[in-house]
Amino acid sequence: MRLLLSLFAIVAAFLLLRSLLEPLVKAIVAFLTPASPRPHAGGPSPGTVGELKKDPVCGTFVAPELAVTQSFHGQTLHFCSTKCRDEYARTA
Ligand SMILES: [Zn+2]
Repeated sequence: MRLLLSLFAIVAAFLLLRSLLEPLVKAIVAFLTPASPRPHAGGPSPGTVGELKKDPVCGTFVAPELAVTQSFHGQTLHFCSTKCRDEYARTA
């Protein structure tokens, strides 16, 4: 009978320990995994890095960060080169 009681105590202790550890483990997993999978969710979307602007002179698509930019009448235009920008400024 003593054996059965101690066995019961072990099982009870195990269940109690597990119920205490489970939220802790979940919290650790949540902490270790990246909190914001948002940038990769849904795949590539317009308006993100990699968006290209069209050169109105020669029609070449250029990355905004590499393009020659110039404002005309409050509108920012992107050119592949200063040559195209000057060409546009001359004809505009
Ligand atoms: Zn161009």
